Amino acid sequence: MKKGPMLYEGKAKQVFATDDPDLLIQHFKDDATAFDGTKKSTIASKGVVNNAISSHMFSLLAEQGVPNHFVEKLSDREMLIKALKMIQVEVIMRNVAAGSICKRYGIEEGRVFDEPILELYYKSDPHHDPLMNTEHVVQFDLCSLETLDEISGYARRINVLMREFFRGINVTLVDFKLEFGMAGDQLLLGDEISPDTCRFWDLKTGEKLDKDRFRFDLGRVEEVYQEMLSRVTGA
Ligand code: UDP
Repeated sequence: MKKGPMLYEGKAKQVFATDDPDLLIQHFKDDATAFDGTKKSTIASKGVVNNAISSHMFSLLAEQGVPNHFVEKLSDREMLIKALKMIQVEVIMRNVAAGSICKRYGIEEGRVFDEPILELYYKSDPHHDPLMNTEHVVQFDLCSLETLDEISGYARRINVLMREFFRGINVTLVDFKLEFGMAGDQLLLGDEISPDTCRFWDLKTGEKLDKDRFRFDLGRVEEVYQEMLSRVTGA
């Protein structure tokens, strides 16, 4: 597998071409941003942790019948993925109130929802990723209603599988973000699953084990990424 030119650089990752047009290399950086990109720094070894945790979660989900872009982990910071045409929607699943839902609706952090809440956001930096509903997605031609139904079904299943997995390593899965894309006519889960894109609280102490430590300067940022790495991989 030959690494080709960089095709895209985001806030936390770079994507490179390969000699196979159907495959790409996703490279995880240590760069961290928060609050719509206004807070910027690096978290030492975050890229290594996020690549390892994402690889583990994508393998687990594939085994459980959730098709995704993961092909193989190539190195500490790189994974081989299937090339996707990304759907410009961020799907957020919430089991417990935290972050933007608390601010937007004035509800208390830590409130446990009877049923998981699924939210859709328009993935658009210039518009600050606004919350949207099914009708926006379909009317704006981001994807069809059938595809969105399939996405919602996957998101709810992923939530059940991930909640169970994280409970097993003494972590409450508070919320997380998913992105999907098309490989030809096949819908696949893409992006990453990591402490950057999920909220993890220690099951017993409630300690935050995710990017909120960076967002809110809670300290021990690198340490909790390493802690999640060792809990997830059992290393
Ligand atoms: N999230 C993400 N990327 C985004 C927005 C949110 O990965 O662009 C994740 C975030 O880490 C959290 C969940 O999605 O696990 C819900 O985020 P929320 O809407 O509460 O926004 P935030 O508090 O991060 O602004």
